[in-house]
Amino acid sequence: MTRNFAYVRPTSLEEAAALLARPGARACAGGTDLLGCLRDEVFEADTVVSLRGLAGAGIPKGITSAGRGLSIGALTTLAQIARDGRILAGYAALAEGAGAAASPQLRNQGTLGGNLCQRPRCWFYRGEYPCARKGGDTCFAIEGDNRYHCIFGGGPCFIVHPSDTAPALVALGAAARIAGPGGRTRTVPLEQFFVLPSQHLTTENVLEPGEIVVEVTLPAPPTWSTYRKARARRSWDFALAGAAVALTMEAGRVTQARVVLSGVAPMPWRARASEAALVGNDLDAKTIRRAAVAAVEGADPMRDNAYKLALTRGVVDQALTAVLGT
Ligand SMILES: Cc1cc2nc3c(=O)[nH]c(=O)nc-3n(C[C@H](O)[C@H](O)[C@H](O)COP(=O)(O)OP(=O)(O)OC[C@H]3O[C@@H](n4cnc5c(N)ncnc54)[C@H](O)[C@@H]3O)c2cc1C
Repeated sequence: MTRNFAYVRPTSLEEAAALLARPGARACAGGTDLLGCLRDEVFEADTVVSLRGLAGAGIPKGITSAGRGLSIGALTTLAQIARDGRILAGYAALAEGAGAAASPQLRNQGTLGGNLCQRPRCWFYRGEYPCARKGGDTCFAIEGDNRYHCIFGGGPCFIVHPSDTAPALVALGAAARIAGPGGRTRTVPLEQFFVLPSQHLTTENVLEPGEIVVEVTLPAPPTWSTYRKARARRSWDFALAGAAVALTMEAGRVTQARVVLSGVAPMPWRARASEAALVGNDLDAKTIRRAAVAAVEGADPMRDNAYKLALTRGVVDQALTAVLGT
């Protein structure tokens, strides 16, 4: 049963950051992940701090142009992102990632900030197991059913990062602007926002107590980008494996490439060997095949999830083939 908590609605970013710096306080944007975690007693809160009143009062509202790129306020919903004309035209991987997340109802309520900061979906973490991520001393996925766990970057915990927008944003070179207590702000490239369990076992990102993601900024768009996701069923579901690709091309040749995987690592995972196989080459079937094979270089599957190797090669192949066809 959900434990009682105080629900507060600050009217300024400073007030919100000060409230969130206190032990036992949790930020709430759309609430689609937070409230489920509290109900299922994954963790507890003494105070839930609503960010909803801060759109336009510290957190930028919606999607706006910023130089040659875009700014997206952290409270922008996934549905707004998936249908925005500028994002569809210049940053398709992000529109597709947001559109592939969850269900229409959840996309109408869930925000970008919440999608990036949502907690892992590991069934041991979400279940009644005193796992390492909850402060226990073991990861139950090592001996237990690990079919949905990671094939890269695991240990001592083997979660996968659940977000579909995060890999797209890393591929697109986005950065997060973060506000903290005392009016402090900092900007962190999304690639450095997420942490591995070996770096920090009980959190998934670099946010310190009291810090709030206020905005995500995108640089000038690449030539092409797209996101492909394989899931267990065609209805709403998390990625078993996904790939966001962003390519800059000149005369058919790839000059810059980012290939970022979802569903296979505790953070959005750059497939650097794939990127190396693409850069300097014409985007043709041979290059695509080489990049797809290279995507699983360094993978270390667990007992039940070696199927993710073929799936990962497949989504990278699909994403690049889609770019070739455009
Ligand atoms: C059934 C179901 C299926 C789903 N399927 C997918 C899927 O396929 N792909 C996918 O990507 N997601 C999926 N999700 C997750 C969903 O997209 C997230 O729940 C949603 O994006 C979270 O947004 P929110 O605004 O509701 O976050 P909240 O629930 O309000 O917050 C989530 C977490 O982020 C923190 N937080 C929120 N905003 C900020 C901020 N601005 N700064 C700092 N911390 C913040 C909160 O404290 C909390 O810990 C699914 C969720 C459900 C329930």
